[in-house]
Amino acid sequence: MTGDGIDLFHPDRDPGRAAGRYAPSPTGRLHLGNLRTALLAWRSARERGAPFLLRIEDVDSGRSREEWVEVQLEELRQIGIDWDGEPVRQSARHELYREALAKLEGEDLLYECFCTRAEIREAASAPHGELPEGAYPGTCRDLTEAEREERRADGRPPALRVRAAGARVGFEDHVCGRVEKTLDDFVVRRNDGDFAYNLAVTVDDAEQRVGEVVRGADLLDTTPRQLWLYDRLGIDAPDRFSHVPLMLGEDGERLAKRHGAITLEERIEAGQSAEQIRRELLDSDLLLP
Ligand code: GLU
Repeated sequence: MTGDGIDLFHPDRDPGRAAGRYAPSPTGRLHLGNLRTALLAWRSARERGAPFLLRIEDVDSGRSREEWVEVQLEELRQIGIDWDGEPVRQSARHELYREALAKLEGEDLLYECFCTRAEIREAASAPHGELPEGAYPGTCRDLTEAEREERRADGRPPALRVRAAGARVGFEDHVCGRVEKTLDDFVVRRNDGDFAYNLAVTVDDAEQRVGEVVRGADLLDTTPRQLWLYDRLGIDAPDRFSHVPLMLGEDGERLAKRHGAITLEERIEAGQSAEQIRRELLDSDLLLP
């Protein structure tokens, strides 16, 4: 992997691997921005005649709530999205994530990290060569077994990080253009035992044979980490990533409660029909070329 990035677009590589997907986290109602992203992902897949899959990203056990799953599915149905098969749930796929971790472990690419957030913040503010600001500075990277034992004895459970620091990964986003990033040693399993988003999403998009990832531009920065994981796990990445602009409130800030009616339910209560909202959300063709 070099600064030239990874060559992602291989339309002939696996012609069956074309699915689109939407992968909401069940942490609340979907807002209009989420629905717009979902519609763009759905429309892109359907225009290509490809399957469209839903994945419930309930890997974060602290924030995910069962009651939101059905609410979100209903919101997606109401806005006119259909999907193929049953939605997949990350909470039912731990075995796959464990296998991926075992593979990384076998390549000596994992290490335990005992740092607290505060320690990382403090250490990350000191200059450390190539790594971007806020990057994990590698404090636990080269601990000896005795040092690790000592920290384990303190009782703080470790997170697992990958040895990725300094890798430069680039790709061509279908919407945002060229993206390049220098990685740090990012977390693949959190210290509360939950698998990290980047690990789960990589394993799932490969296993579900997703060919195009459409998601919000707030996740643009995560893709180089996922590409690194694809590479190290020896699995193909999706052919195309399309990070679509986030929907903003009138003040130019990310959509939030204070912007008024931002959920489907609130808009419908205010007198709009689901069909009107759908048309409004799909109005701009500039969003996904
Ligand atoms: N679960 C993520 C979210 O709701 C989306 C992840 C993805 O599309 O890769 O923000």
